[in-house]
Amino acid sequence: MIRFLAKKPLLLIVLFAFLISAILSQPSFAQKNSSAAHDVPRPKLVVGIVVDQMRWDYLYRYYGRYGNDGFKRMLKNGFSAGNTNINYVPTYTAIGHTSIYTGSVPAIHGIDGNNFYLNHNGKLVYCTEDDQVQSVGTDSTDGQMSPKNLLTTTITDELQLATNFRSKVIGIALKDRASILPAGRAADAAYWFDDTTGNWVTSTWYMKELPDWVKQFNQQNLAKKYLDRGWNTLYPISSYAQSTPDNNDYERALPGTDTPIFPVDTAKLYKEKGAGIIRSTPFGNAFTFDMARAAIKNEELGRRDVTDFLAISLSSTDYVGHYFGPNSIEVEDTYLRLDQDLANFLTYLDQEVGKGKYTVFLTADHGASHNIGFMEDHHLPAGAWNSGATQKALNSQLESVFGAKDLVRSLINSQVHFNHQTIEEKGLDFNKIEQETVRFLEKQDGVAYAVIMADATNAAIPAILRERIVNSYNRIRSGAIQIILQPAWYSSGAARPKGATHSAIYPYDTHIPLVFMGWGIKRGETAQPTNMTDIAPTLAALLHIQTPDGSIGTPISEALKLR
Ligand code: ZN
Ligand code: ZN
Repeated sequence: MIRFLAKKPLLLIVLFAFLISAILSQPSFAQKNSSAAHDVPRPKLVVGIVVDQMRWDYLYRYYGRYGNDGFKRMLKNGFSAGNTNINYVPTYTAIGHTSIYTGSVPAIHGIDGNNFYLNHNGKLVYCTEDDQVQSVGTDSTDGQMSPKNLLTTTITDELQLATNFRSKVIGIALKDRASILPAGRAADAAYWFDDTTGNWVTSTWYMKELPDWVKQFNQQNLAKKYLDRGWNTLYPISSYAQSTPDNNDYERALPGTDTPIFPVDTAKLYKEKGAGIIRSTPFGNAFTFDMARAAIKNEELGRRDVTDFLAISLSSTDYVGHYFGPNSIEVEDTYLRLDQDLANFLTYLDQEVGKGKYTVFLTADHGASHNIGFMEDHHLPAGAWNSGATQKALNSQLESVFGAKDLVRSLINSQVHFNHQTIEEKGLDFNKIEQETVRFLEKQDGVAYAVIMADATNAAIPAILRERIVNSYNRIRSGAIQIILQPAWYSSGAARPKGATHSAIYPYDTHIPLVFMGWGIKRGETAQPTNMTDIAPTLAALLHIQTPDGSIGTPISEALKLR
């Protein structure tokens, strides 16, 4: 055809003129909101689902008990990058959500922990705190939050830039940081849960007043309705073969209860502790999906002439995990319920947006360790490292050598934060203080390495660990020395702490699920090593938009149906 037309230039011109006039006469072309971006094939909606504290092995640990339409649907119909790891430390919530959505690491994106110190003034800041904005939807200060500490764009920001801000980007999570950081700086909205009012709220960073649909959603008081049902196991408790029997020493009881056992009288807990208790039950996930559905319906996400992005994070898996640990019936039950909630949500997307018209990905911000006592009782190596006691002892050691009190401000994020003001005022030799600190720390039980970050390239540690700690070192916001504990050790004041936690550099905390499904995604699986920071570049390649400004990742091209 082309060769034929090439021989007939006049015919080609007539045909071309006809095409142009046909395009111009389309009513949509004249509309202000329309643009050439129409021609770029993209999904109608991208949905990110971050499951807080979901270890990769939970995809398979309970596989036999999942239904066909939740996790299994994603694994069977989507693409699973089964060897995805977090390439920085510490593995905490704020950093995880930021790194997923920026394709970057704390060294660059600046979110160095849930809390971190500013080295120049020694101020401790919460990742999303912002006293320049006001709460919207509550009188409490829980709404005074924004992404102002985030130093790069997110993939959601890049979608806004690519469409001249015609895309709608909305973040939804019970935790403010898990909603705000994924939604990015140019988001239309981020909503999170305010325990004092039991409402979904936001801040003046995004808007002056809650939309009517959010006010109406809040008026339903769904948190109470969920909690009034009580929490018992979904199936007979004897069928939870993958978990330790219910009443044991490894688990921490919920506030307001004496023992960590089923059934949990959540109606009573709601009366005594308020709506915030929903965070620590599986109902928090269902409730978050309800809010996500309300956003899709009322904001018409995925039904407009431009791609929208909904960033959801499910926080309850983290709270439940901290109380009960990976080997508990509570965690198993939470994932079996989440599987059902996920199935319902995917079915809703099929109906509202259309099968094959949306792209969804599911991942986690970090995993979790097993409980220390549980490990020890099974002859597995683990231990507790008391960071509070260590800081005290380290400070008295440094005082005896250098004659100054409290030279270490904090060991938060497993980093040594020095009191730089005192060191400067007294004219102390910083290098000597660092060396003395490393000598002291490396003598402690449970400490594998203490690395002076200014000299990290010379540290005699495995290359992959070095890369991860260098990725984490933000000159302005990080401590000068990174502490790496032995595997399965974590910070605790008790020798056998209850529950579980995360923050480590090892696979139980770094190995996360990553499954894409829907528009533009191939069916398949890879065991090739991939990083959390590859998620945003993969989405950028899928959408044909720019990779976020600070990204260091690589697209997982096997996952994508590229032309
Ligand atoms: Zn988390
Ligand atoms: Zn956590």
